[in-house]
Amino acid sequence: ANPKRDKEKTQPIHVFIRPRPLNKQEHETRSLTCIDITGPKDIAIKQQYGKRYTFDKVFDPYAKQIDVYKTVVKPLIPEVIAGYNCTVFAYGQTGTGKTHTMAGGSASSGVSWQNDEQAGIIPRAMAHLFEELCLIPQQYTVRVSYLELYNEELFDLLCDNVENKNIRLFEDHNQKGSVIINGISTETVCNKNEVYNILQKGQEKRRTASTLLNAQSSRSHTVFIIMVHTCETTCEGEELVKTGKLNLVDLAGSENISRSGAVDRRAREAGNINQSLLTLGRVIKALVEKSAHIPYRESKLTRILQDSLGGRTKTSIIATISPASSCLEETLSTLDYAHRAK
Ligand code: ADP
Ligand code: MG
Repeated sequence: ANPKRDKEKTQPIHVFIRPRPLNKQEHETRSLTCIDITGPKDIAIKQQYGKRYTFDKVFDPYAKQIDVYKTVVKPLIPEVIAGYNCTVFAYGQTGTGKTHTMAGGSASSGVSWQNDEQAGIIPRAMAHLFEELCLIPQQYTVRVSYLELYNEELFDLLCDNVENKNIRLFEDHNQKGSVIINGISTETVCNKNEVYNILQKGQEKRRTASTLLNAQSSRSHTVFIIMVHTCETTCEGEELVKTGKLNLVDLAGSENISRSGAVDRRAREAGNINQSLLTLGRVIKALVEKSAHIPYRESKLTRILQDSLGGRTKTSIIATISPASSCLEETLSTLDYAHRAK
């Protein structure tokens, strides 16, 4: 038996920690740091002696976007091409780098992103996907959707009109455990250069929509879905079609989730219950504990991702944290949440 192999099999969720560097304001106020990265997989809390956690990887605060991509997402691309579903979440307190990690720095500034060190996971995954697809003999199509979820309501970030079409979720009766998102735009992407336009369009739409709704963007989730179909004709003349999916999810700020994983009392009183974020925690817990019942149906986010969480899928979480002592409570809360997923 190969113990490494077995571990791989029994670990349904991979968990990575990405601390950001201290920001300008934290530097100016000479903020202290509360974290100590004690090894490639280990992080300790300075103020709490003996408090330490182990993950699949703890990144350096100065880790480059390309390093994060290579470690977390690159291994998933062959899986998606082979017809499996994978999901990557960015989880963490607002301002710790979720959007930086998923979309990346210059996503909206129009810099030619091939040369952009700051490009995040979404454009890098698309570029890598097309590179890999060029190497296979099968024919392929790549389609993307870009959704926002706010207060359990779905918004299409790729449709042209401002108001929201009626998006509804249906069970797919042909494919058990799969959900059809009805009324959502999907755009066919032919090469990696088209992706920035799509991201930019989505982000503009997100801004107008949030102004209209007077919504706080930190409370919404965005889901970028990449669907890959490959088709080959076998020697017997049979068509072999495979469909894989990569979901890249920039979650709502985790600041209302308490260390126990429940909604913080103050947040509950203020009505700030994020059903999707809470249910995601429960789904992850059930998957880790291999429960018979996984509560996918209790939120829109987990319904959308139902066919991409658990089973033969691969799930990764990048938990982003601030190194500043002023954020200690939130950082502990994020580390606890991330650790429960292991
Ligand atoms: P979130 O989406 O979690 O609210 P952002 O991604 O918007 O946070 O990050 C907040 C700010 O910190 C942004 O200005 C972003 O550029 C910066 N930032 C986040 N993570 C990093 C990092 N790893 N390195 C450098 N700057 C970062
Ligand atoms: Mg953000």
